[in-house]
Amino acid sequence: MLAYTYIERGKFELVEKPRPRLEHPRDAIVRVTLGSICTSDLHIKHGSVPRAVPGITVGHEMVGVVEEVGAEVTHVRPGDRVTVNVETFCGECFFCRHGYVNNCTDPNGGWALGCRIDGGQTEYVRVPFADQGLDRIPDSVSDEQALFTGDILATGFWAARISEIKEEDTVLIIGAGPTGICALLCVMLKRPKRIIVCEKSEERVRFVREHYPDVLVTGPEECKEFVLAHCDHGGADVVMEVAGAGDTFRLAWDCACPNAVVTVVALYDNPQILPLPDMYGKNLTFKTGGVDGCDCAEILRLIEEGKIDTTPLITHRFPLSRIEEAYRIFENRLDGVIKVVVECG
Ligand SMILES: [Zn+2]
Ligand SMILES: [Zn+2]
Repeated sequence: MLAYTYIERGKFELVEKPRPRLEHPRDAIVRVTLGSICTSDLHIKHGSVPRAVPGITVGHEMVGVVEEVGAEVTHVRPGDRVTVNVETFCGECFFCRHGYVNNCTDPNGGWALGCRIDGGQTEYVRVPFADQGLDRIPDSVSDEQALFTGDILATGFWAARISEIKEEDTVLIIGAGPTGICALLCVMLKRPKRIIVCEKSEERVRFVREHYPDVLVTGPEECKEFVLAHCDHGGADVVMEVAGAGDTFRLAWDCACPNAVVTVVALYDNPQILPLPDMYGKNLTFKTGGVDGCDCAEILRLIEEGKIDTTPLITHRFPLSRIEEAYRIFENRLDGVIKVVVECG
């Protein structure tokens, strides 16, 4: 089968590999129907994910059909259409039992697929802890509708869940890339009084205005002024930093009102400065880190009910055989790209 593979720093290649086999009674083999490309794949390509293992198949955003399950798998059966979770987690350790699955203590726990073990930009993938990592897609939900459930949508859902959003709040979301828009969709479910999106790219500003006309949009230069003009008490009550650009962390705490929650979803290339003397009296609460991707069943239910729709994010489709081209467009942000679907099946 064809597998898009991390060869060395700066180099991915489509190579022929044998089909994966069950290695553990809790594994499942999934025939990948659709995959997608995530910014984290680019981080691997550019060497900024030190734990990524050369030789692995990349890709951690995918849906497919269960082909085969190990003897201890009970949650899914061959033939089930499923989403695959970006995180591998045992479901039994202290952190898993408390829903903090990103910190699963199993040696395979955390972001393993498409990073430390073979991922999904290929035809078949082995999913460890399949009972935890796979969720059945409801019949009325298409593969494309479900595609982002296990990764960027799980991230947006988690970010909205931990941000303590109340109905009287103004929520500022910094960054309207794919994950920022997923965060926006999940924030909208909480029905805050006001949502402001800060985005630099004119293309993405247009996208937000077109699809979410009730959302206020500003650019990074005028963001603080805009937030102050639209907030009732000197800043946003909740800030989500999803951009991860050079100065967006500063922008996040600067635009927050006293006692706000600042949720940092972004992954930075460099350490960030938190100037405590300047913000001592602001009493901010910071929440940081990687998604606890354990809400996929609920996300799929919300998609089924028509409450979350990520299909407008899909701007391009390529067969697996043309994945190089898909990467070129995604990586260079050509042709108005937001998300690319890779047809694997
Ligand atoms: Zn990702
Ligand atoms: Zn665990």
